[in-house]
Amino acid sequence: MLELKGLSATIEDKEILHDINLTIGQGETHVLFGPNGSGKTTLLMAIMGFPRYQITRGSIIFKGKDITSTPLDERARLGIGMSFQRPPVVRGVKTQDMVSASLGDRGDEATITTLAERANMTDLLDRDINYGFSGGEIKRSELMQLQAQRPELTLLDEPESGVDLVNIALIGELINELLEKGCHIRERRCMGLIITHTGHILNYVNARTGYVMVNGRISCGGDPHEILATIKEKGYEECVRCILRGVEWLR
Ligand code: ADP
Ligand code: MG
Repeated sequence: MLELKGLSATIEDKEILHDINLTIGQGETHVLFGPNGSGKTTLLMAIMGFPRYQITRGSIIFKGKDITSTPLDERARLGIGMSFQRPPVVRGVKTQDMVSASLGDRGDEATITTLAERANMTDLLDRDINYGFSGGEIKRSELMQLQAQRPELTLLDEPESGVDLVNIALIGELINELLEKGCHIRERRCMGLIITHTGHILNYVNARTGYVMVNGRISCGGDPHEILATIKEKGYEECVRCILRGVEWLR
């Protein structure tokens, strides 16, 4: 359902992503590990279609359609949604208005109330988006907006960063709802790509495959828990060595 073929991308003429190959099947959740500055956020931004991120080689196929040159808004309408690592504050726009816009025709008051209750966001609906929100509130707000949008492909950029221990279980629940984890994989419509720096989210959300990104390349793919254990034991230096040795599991 999502296929990246030999994707390279630049920001401000600097190549950040090199030759990324990745396939996520319907109903699957994959996680992406990697040190700071390795290009994880850039990858999500390129899949979402932010114009600052220029795709210079390769292609993005979503639901059988080549969307490499498709504008961001159309990608969103096709069913791609994203939560940001550090989303901006939007003064003058209430959180409730964003949820309502994301719901479109389904945006009646009862639906908004239910979404807000589930995300423990009821008291924040009336506030400007992210204005004065805590780390946990920002992430819950992002997930509530995604639940309103109901994307088929959900891109989550470090959903657990800045979130305390009480909130992380709720964050996990909201992600599981978004990715339809309650259904059998064959009945699931949704798929996810989750960036995690710490791997903490894996305690709450099941994922089928993990990758490590180092210096804008994917160094390996495999069982996410195994990858995490290796990173904890040996650090990302081992991943760098893998790349230098030319180990490219995904080819
Ligand atoms: P990660 O999410 O893995 O921490 P990023 O994708 O944010 O990594 O960044 C990858 C690289 O791209 C870093 O070297 C970063 O400095 C660079 N970068 C990110 N945004 C910009 C930008 N707007 N202009 C120039 N370089 C950028
Ligand atoms: Mg990042």
